[in-house]
Amino acid sequence: MTVTSQTTFQATISASIADEAARCVACGLCLPHCPTYRKTLSEADSPRGRIALMQGWLARRIPLNERFLGHIDLCLACRACENVCPNNVAYGSLIAGVRGEVERLRRRSLWQRLVRNGLVDGVITKPAMLRLAGGAVRIWQMSGLQALARKSKWAKQSAPARAAAHLPQLKPQPAWRTVYPAEGLVRGEVGLFLGCVARAADSETLRASIFVLNRLGYSVHVTPRQGCCGALHTGLGEPEKARGFERQNIDAFSGAELDAVISTSAGCGAALKAYPPNFAGKVKDISEFLSAAQGWEATRIAPLPEKVAVHEPCLMRNVLHCQDAPYALLRRIPGATVEPLAGNGQCCGAAGTYFLTQPDMAGALLADKMEAVRASGAKYLATSNIGCAIHLVSGLRESGVVIEALHPVTLIARQMGFDDDKIR
Ligand code: SF4
Ligand code: SF4
Repeated sequence: MTVTSQTTFQATISASIADEAARCVACGLCLPHCPTYRKTLSEADSPRGRIALMQGWLARRIPLNERFLGHIDLCLACRACENVCPNNVAYGSLIAGVRGEVERLRRRSLWQRLVRNGLVDGVITKPAMLRLAGGAVRIWQMSGLQALARKSKWAKQSAPARAAAHLPQLKPQPAWRTVYPAEGLVRGEVGLFLGCVARAADSETLRASIFVLNRLGYSVHVTPRQGCCGALHTGLGEPEKARGFERQNIDAFSGAELDAVISTSAGCGAALKAYPPNFAGKVKDISEFLSAAQGWEATRIAPLPEKVAVHEPCLMRNVLHCQDAPYALLRRIPGATVEPLAGNGQCCGAAGTYFLTQPDMAGALLADKMEAVRASGAKYLATSNIGCAIHLVSGLRESGVVIEALHPVTLIARQMGFDDDKIR
């Protein structure tokens, strides 16, 4: 892109942000639903306040200074505001657009550059590097050093140290086959989106999804050319990189005639849903797909007379709008008592890399979740987003709350006979 066309392109983006922001009538109905506003009670940390700040900056009335950036950065992009806005202001597009614009102009600290370029670009979104990093983490976990780190002061010194100390026990990443054939009567062909973090930190959920889909009569295609969904880069204000992953995934899944592309993580699912309609129309959350799937009458699900608290990830509620699906899926388990976790309307604070870059707010929101988990008295905590799961598990360990956090599909798969250690 030439300098002139780049400038024109940026001007077009700014104009579209300004147009969308102008649709906000400042009614304030979104304010009580905004987690950062509820914590700070500052208008500048509310959706309405942030939109006003964006408008002021685009009109050159507000400078691009630390104060402005602080309010923009503190937004979780949870989109709870968008979900309740009577004027349907597309807040998610506004915050992503403004973050993209300011990213080109701001100076980042060394630490921030390390998280963005080292961790996200160099490891998380590179499958080979992620496999290597996962191996290194497993050695660290098996050596007992992680257990020592959890008890040390080191784990309390920074958000990344705390996250590393409380990372769930990683399992070896499987060598994925390209097709897992359906068992019995074939009902359809689906693609499975692996995700970056999920394939390293929660391959059990991916394998459980294949297990259940195969049992119900769906063949599962795992294309090896798929990449990151792009959500991390959208959140970091790097839309061009996100669009690169979009092109890669559309190409990767174009080889087979698929009835659906299944995502097991709400964050990835929301990003895939923003792809062009011919791809986005096929994207389904695993619980959403399974709760409407056929073949259940021929399956045996063992009873589980226990209480399951369901955590609803923000993007599942506010973007995918399929937050009822995990309940429908889990209620297929005889004897299980399935209830919402109190305070599901509020983000847990994970929000992509937010828990690393905004540890104070992320910690305050996590503390609310821990209170709710304690009060639930549940044996299982079901969540459908890998980022939330990692953040919640870290909070559970720190606060000494004993409950198993897992994906809804993993729990039902276990009751159907799935044993993660036997199908590698
Ligand atoms: S609810 Fe919508 S229109 Fe009202 S202040 Fe919030 S964003 Fe603006
Ligand atoms: S996206 Fe979430 S944190 Fe950001 S303004 Fe909206 S409700 Fe508040």
